[in-house]
Amino acid sequence: MNRLLQDTLLQLDREHLWHPYASMTTPPPVNLAESASGTRIRLADGTELIDAVSSWWCMAHGHNHPRIVEAVQVQLKRLAQVMFAGFTHEPAIELGRRLAEAAPGDLDRVFFADSGSVAVECAAKLAVQYQLAAGKPGRCRLAALRGGYHGDTAGAMALSDPEGMHTLFRGLLVQHHFAPQPVTRFGEEWDPADFAPMAKLLDRFDSEIAAVIVEPIFQGANAMRFYHPEYLRQLRRACDEHGILLICDEIATGFGRTGEFFASDYAGIVPDIMCVGKALTGGTITLAAAITRPAVAEIVSRGEPGRFMHGPTFMANPLACAAGCASLALFEEYDWRSRVAAIETQLSSELHELRNLDNVSDTRVLGAVGVVELNTTPPPETVQRIVRETGVWLRPFGPWLYTMPPFITTPEEISRITAAMRQVAEAGSSTSERPLKKNKRR
Ligand SMILES: *Cc1c(COP(=O)(O)O)cnc(C)c1O
Repeated sequence: MNRLLQDTLLQLDREHLWHPYASMTTPPPVNLAESASGTRIRLADGTELIDAVSSWWCMAHGHNHPRIVEAVQVQLKRLAQVMFAGFTHEPAIELGRRLAEAAPGDLDRVFFADSGSVAVECAAKLAVQYQLAAGKPGRCRLAALRGGYHGDTAGAMALSDPEGMHTLFRGLLVQHHFAPQPVTRFGEEWDPADFAPMAKLLDRFDSEIAAVIVEPIFQGANAMRFYHPEYLRQLRRACDEHGILLICDEIATGFGRTGEFFASDYAGIVPDIMCVGKALTGGTITLAAAITRPAVAEIVSRGEPGRFMHGPTFMANPLACAAGCASLALFEEYDWRSRVAAIETQLSSELHELRNLDNVSDTRVLGAVGVVELNTTPPPETVQRIVRETGVWLRPFGPWLYTMPPFITTPEEISRITAAMRQVAEAGSSTSERPLKKNKRR
């Protein structure tokens, strides 16, 4: 793309477009993406970046996987969209069947939603309708974990860490019940005291709580931290004792990211409702789902008003479902498990070397997730300079510098990613802060 057009587009972007979590008056730097394939995003100026964050944790098989592209193209020529009230179609049916097969236990009733946040809202509404139908109308709140993240819509914000990124909106949000973050880390020896606060909370508010929602094993956007599977086993037991539903938000963790197909598999538990999203379509198009067990679906459907009261306009969009089918088929065709295991091994050894840097307070790795906790994160302009110099796309937030690479990332690319992470970590310590170089744009 010629230089003049690039500049014009970027100028128009600054004038008209909001970017995520961004200011419109002092917008952060953005890269003009033109195309992508595999692990690489190509920019309009010819630069190639390794996508070390899988475009917000979605791009499991890499960008523009030819099989997914083809599935969407074929579907586009047939049927791009049809309302899901009064209609059904093969891609939705096929994806529903595949999800029922892949999900743990008897989770097999699928409600498609158009984004992860909406799937979380659907799960919460299902839980409330379930308790109503079960004769417990007082149970209209949820319990959740501090340090949790469940999305950016009002219902999902209300379930996320109350001290996290949504504190501004307290006045807008329903008050739910929060238990402390699990303390015992994944891989450490289980501390039996760890579950006590949640047990107490469920005892105390038994009559108010419809469901508990958690991100299994890996608390993402508000904590970037891995906890012990025993927490989930005890939570499953406690929910059963109280007749409270358990919702596992697998939107970030689902589809192999933590090393198991679903993170709840580490605990061997079956939630009553599971939310999936992000990598569901291999990251190609937005799609999410809330998947429930037959028993939950039946009780919801028997109670007043005899149906589940939610119906997004683009529910089960055929293009998205076709992408989902192709993505799930890919998981059956290559050994994603050993690829994720190899990424885990390499990230562990290369990131743990960063522990002795002054600016690094912790490093942790599980599956294809590598986190470096920093004392000081360098300013966006410095990160952008390192991104351009190393050709590795990183987007730290809060104190966390992390990578969640596509599963097809090669060992050489992983090494480039961890080397770039080292540079960001070093740039964050105030002593080594270097003056900004002029942006090298071709
Ligand atoms: C990203 C995310 C969501 C929200 O999904 P959107 O598609 O962005 O609405 C919800 N829960 C978890 C755990 C997530 O990581």
